[in-house]
Amino acid sequence: MELHPVTQLIRTQIEQTGEKEHSSPLFLTSSFCFDNAESMRATFADETDENIYSRFSNPNVDEFVQRICILEQAEDGFATASGMSAVFASFMALLKSGDHLLICRSVFGSTHTVVAKYLPKYGIEYTYVEADRIESWEAEIKSNTKMIYLETPTNPGLDIIDLEAVSKLKEKYNLILNVDNCFATPVSQKPICLGADLVVHSATKWIDGQGRVLGGVVVGKKELINEIYLFCRATGPSLSPFNAWLLSRSLETLDVRMERHAANALFIASELEGHKELAWVKYPFLPSHPQYEIARKQMRDGGGILCFELKGGLEKGRQFLNRLRLLSLTANLGDTRSIASHPASTTHAKLTEEERAAVGITPGLIRISIGLEHRDDILFDITQALDN
Ligand SMILES: *Cc1c(COP(=O)(O)O)cnc(C)c1O
Repeated sequence: MELHPVTQLIRTQIEQTGEKEHSSPLFLTSSFCFDNAESMRATFADETDENIYSRFSNPNVDEFVQRICILEQAEDGFATASGMSAVFASFMALLKSGDHLLICRSVFGSTHTVVAKYLPKYGIEYTYVEADRIESWEAEIKSNTKMIYLETPTNPGLDIIDLEAVSKLKEKYNLILNVDNCFATPVSQKPICLGADLVVHSATKWIDGQGRVLGGVVVGKKELINEIYLFCRATGPSLSPFNAWLLSRSLETLDVRMERHAANALFIASELEGHKELAWVKYPFLPSHPQYEIARKQMRDGGGILCFELKGGLEKGRQFLNRLRLLSLTANLGDTRSIASHPASTTHAKLTEEERAAVGITPGLIRISIGLEHRDDILFDITQALDN
């Protein structure tokens, strides 16, 4: 009988050493030894898959990548020091001067900076398209378009993009579909099964799940990953073995953690809907979500993030943050501890109101990353901060 992916993941680990350890040991070593000149020659000539140097490969990093590949049903992968280095490597290894990138406007802030500030320095063009109007994307494809890049659910607006529909588009024009699957996590959504060629992750978020280390990973088609591997091996954004060791252990509980995060989030979103201080509440698995049907089709659960709009706008947003007693005010998300953020006065404060509106950030938008505390305590803190 074929083992279920969760079992395969838990049982895929570094081969036991002579110490007979049960849990994977930590290989804090920069380089690896060879028995003789011939084995060293053969390894440098790519005739073996022995480790050479931890910028190229390391047993802890390989274990982490293999486990992500099982979850994402990917052929191969490469792990990086952060989510942003995974995103950046996927662009730099596969795009060249004269290429065009079609990118959804609702993407992570630093991804915007990479695309709008740095890619043009290397002659790579881009066009932003809107998350809630994928029918308009085809008209933006040019003869030099090479890649489509998107996140779903988007951050922080939680729009859902139909991955099967975008996959059809990329098939028709023979493009690379690159999906940031950080918000959904690979236990809820598997973009490769829906036609994506590459999936990138910030492992810093739900995959670590406890706000401890940075990490990133890109997985997908073998020939694309090989290009990314060669780029990273030469330029050096590799994941540290220690972080990989921690992230691998975290993956063993990702499935059960996400079940609880999502159950808590659905409960809290349902309870908050209709609250007199809120203009609206958004969560992918609330039937009132504009793309609810698509979310149900491509996600196992609605994830751990919800957002809502305070009727009082910007000032009310600041007040709300100040009144919270339990929820943390911090830049991370995907933690056991619930976190609140107010993008308009913090992460996106430097943008004009029009620029914020274009990426779905309204003045009173609050994003909550729902933790693993008791759901009643999380709800109580949010409602007391709203009612106060
Ligand atoms: C945090 C985040 C990133 C960047 O990841 P880092 O690990 O912080 O570099 C990319 N995409 C999304 C959706 C994120 O939330």
